[in-house]
Amino acid sequence: MTKMPGKFSRIAIANRGEVAVRIIKACEELGIETVLLHSEADINSRAYRMATKTICIGPAPTAESYLSIPANVNGALAAGAQAIHPGFGFLSENADFAEAVEKAGMTFIGPSAESIRSLGDKVHCKELAKKAGLPLVPGYQGENQEVAHLIQQAEKIGYPVIVKAAAGGGGRGMKLITNSADAAELIESAQREAQSAFGSPKVFLEKYLDRAKHIEFQIFGDSSGQVIHFFDRECSVQRRHQKIIEEATSPSLTDDLRRRMGEAACAIATVGKYKGAGTVEFLLQDGEFYLLEVNTRLQVEHPVTEEVMGVDLVKMQILTAQGDFIHDPKQVRIPRGHSIECRIYAENPFMGGVPSTGLLGHVEWPEGPGRRYEYGFDQGDVITPFYDPMIAKVIVWDENRPRAIQKMIRVLKDSVVFGVHTNIPYLIEILSHKEFVMGTMTTRFIETYFAEAL
Ligand code: ADP
Repeated sequence: MTKMPGKFSRIAIANRGEVAVRIIKACEELGIETVLLHSEADINSRAYRMATKTICIGPAPTAESYLSIPANVNGALAAGAQAIHPGFGFLSENADFAEAVEKAGMTFIGPSAESIRSLGDKVHCKELAKKAGLPLVPGYQGENQEVAHLIQQAEKIGYPVIVKAAAGGGGRGMKLITNSADAAELIESAQREAQSAFGSPKVFLEKYLDRAKHIEFQIFGDSSGQVIHFFDRECSVQRRHQKIIEEATSPSLTDDLRRRMGEAACAIATVGKYKGAGTVEFLLQDGEFYLLEVNTRLQVEHPVTEEVMGVDLVKMQILTAQGDFIHDPKQVRIPRGHSIECRIYAENPFMGGVPSTGLLGHVEWPEGPGRRYEYGFDQGDVITPFYDPMIAKVIVWDENRPRAIQKMIRVLKDSVVFGVHTNIPYLIEILSHKEFVMGTMTTRFIETYFAEAL
């Protein structure tokens, strides 16, 4: 039996930037104090200024601060927090962290360590998915990691094949094999990179789907264990397997597909005893969908779901962790209108997306109906080279997709960021592209039409 947590009066945030601000806002509405567990490099940030309390947990390198389990657990304990919100990235999908938080007598705001282990691990997740009857991309997830055996499996699957790090994430640790001549070299280098980046050389293989869309479902397990979904997002606009523009709902699903994919998403989450916010990711090609993975945390793109569903997923996460959130059967859960999110990266678009750092001279995010901004830095703050270059998210809502696109273009033209370069000019071009406007883009959209942005 896990203990029933009481109401939280103080929550620690094991994260930084815009998501830390997002969590602080949810806590403020719930009347909960916040403790920001930050590195030495993040003193000039909105989250630092907004949190009730701040604790420096280490120097700038992530291994010594944001990725250190003891630093975060000890910081939260010292501050008297009853719970830790991990945000996304960093330790958010680390089962050992969830376990350490609970062992220290606090509540991890997220699913149980057991759920993270079974669903968050890409290989385990596929085994569960098979049991739950979900369609998988054809592939090999076996224990035998000998290169000769993996090549044999790749030939069986048929090229092109993608080799992925079993412990990978964030679009990293993947290599595309298009023919048998390159297979040995690519598999070996994938194993080496998996070891150095993720601490395990284990890889698995999947058939590469070359005209797929990325469609995902927001799922949510309440305090009683009932899982429902909050419909879908499309995230096909990606660069190097990382999302840049996301929208809710997908322009590509028929009612029947949406129903079947939603049911599949809830089925796997239920088998994995899922609690809180999570995402079931699929690839969709030629009318068939395949499970890609389950992300056992809040997603960067959660605001587009919040906009069309009229919910606050972060507040729901906190209430669920308190044991206080039960899905209300009287609530009609139907998406309304259309929402789009653009990720604003501090990078130089004229230098192949090289991160751009420096002092933010002047920043303006002009308010207006259906405009929402999530950002972690104000003018006068410094964008440092230590972390992910995403500095803000711009989210719009309008009654339908064409109007939402039109609004997003206007909003991006109105927004001002001086001091660092950003990808805003590229985003405007992407949003104006015929294929995006039609909604027919696949995950290869950027590499096909915007090679210079790669
Ligand atoms: P990560 O956990 O690193 O984000 P995912 O497995 O979720 O990795 O994949 C990220 C992206 O990589 C997908 O959205 C898709 O664009 C691409 N991708 C992954 N697997 C395949 C595949 N089998 N075929 C085609 N594209 C793939």
